Amino acid sequence: MTDSAIVTDSAIKKYLNERIPRYTSYPTAPHFSAAVGPLSYRDWLMAVPGGARLSLYLHVPFCETLCWYCGCHTSITRHRAPIERYVETLEREITHIAGLVGSHRVAHIHWGGGTPSIVGPGLFLAVISRLQQRFAVEPDAEIAIEIDPRHLDAGMAAALGQGGVTRASLGIQTLDHAAQKAAARIQSLEMTQACANRLRRAGIRDLNVDLLYGLPHETVASCEASVGAALTLNPARISVFGYAHVPAMMKHQRVIDAAALPNAEERLRQEQVIGDTLVRAGYLRIGLDHYARPDDALAKAQLSGRLRRNFQGYTDDPADALIGFGASSIGRLLQGYVQNASGIKDWGDRIEAGGLATVRGIAVTPEDDLRADIIERLMCDLQADIPAALRRHGFDAGWLDTELFELEPLVADGLARIDRGVITVPEASRNLVRRVASQFDAYLDPAAGRHAVAV
Ligand code: SF4
Repeated sequence: MTDSAIVTDSAIKKYLNERIPRYTSYPTAPHFSAAVGPLSYRDWLMAVPGGARLSLYLHVPFCETLCWYCGCHTSITRHRAPIERYVETLEREITHIAGLVGSHRVAHIHWGGGTPSIVGPGLFLAVISRLQQRFAVEPDAEIAIEIDPRHLDAGMAAALGQGGVTRASLGIQTLDHAAQKAAARIQSLEMTQACANRLRRAGIRDLNVDLLYGLPHETVASCEASVGAALTLNPARISVFGYAHVPAMMKHQRVIDAAALPNAEERLRQEQVIGDTLVRAGYLRIGLDHYARPDDALAKAQLSGRLRRNFQGYTDDPADALIGFGASSIGRLLQGYVQNASGIKDWGDRIEAGGLATVRGIAVTPEDDLRADIIERLMCDLQADIPAALRRHGFDAGWLDTELFELEPLVADGLARIDRGVITVPEASRNLVRRVASQFDAYLDPAAGRHAVAV
């Protein structure tokens, strides 16, 4: 057995500023290419076996105003016409894809954005009804939607209830007024509470909350205050992300004063105070950045080893394939990943021309599947059994000995233990699990600097 002392602060600091993928997929999205296009996707859809269970993702890339910290593909509008056109095209895409893949069972539907509730009650219910016509949506399917609490009226909340939504994610991010001002997103706790009440009155049983640390002007004290306030909503899950300042990719982030951003050590303390507060309140840590009440499905999935990782983060969704709809959406099929055109017009033109909007993707190899499995287990369970993974995927014992050998410096720094090929990331190094997982990433180019810092 290779072991080490407890991870030290200096060891953690050593890895803080490394830029590492979040591994919501493997291979990660920057490695998708035009080698996979509509023809491959068409074949992959038609090859989905009968009896497979699908998960559906719908992307709505519109918001009423832009938050300067935003890292999503979204477009700002206060007009109905572009939204109506978009939803019309989305329905067309649903019909077309359903025709290719067949009427499979659907256990999860996720509406992401942007602000998906911006479509309004009528269009929302029209899309739900189209999905129900074209797929066998299970009666107890989880239907989740991301909500901007600043813009959800009683009519839309009622439509979400009527459409069978079971889970809503409320973006709070921070209640630090200086940070809200710097991001041009003013949102009081009362506003969020009113939104949560509307959703609960509409029958939506599970509410999630999203928090961000590392925002300009945020402090350890204000992060602690934000999470304390968020707990008053009694959320089932809380996701805690570090703000990723990547102005080279997200040009609007240039408005953010980089001098007001907390440094790596402050970010770490902010992340720790939020996590400690949640654990004291009885929440279970889920993987890298989620927390769940013990009665929540995600907590149960973690305890029973069924936790999965996908583009929405952590999930208990055991679907055989994920089908994405809308501009920039990503899908995962047995054969690989596909991504739609990111531009709304580009995506719309391709769908309106009667085709698929796939512009990028990657066909996965057996080696990719093996590495993806190991990375997913590390990200979900903080543990991966390498000999068992090699057997599962039909590789010879010893095939990953180089990777195990190269883990030794991380073991020496306390980021991992290795016992007879079973890698375990100790609790104290949980927030550096990506660093351990990255040892199995055959595509990683640490010099590229396109990913968020490790904490
Ligand atoms: S509401 Fe969300 S998606 Fe829209 S701009 Fe703000 S952070 Fe981005």
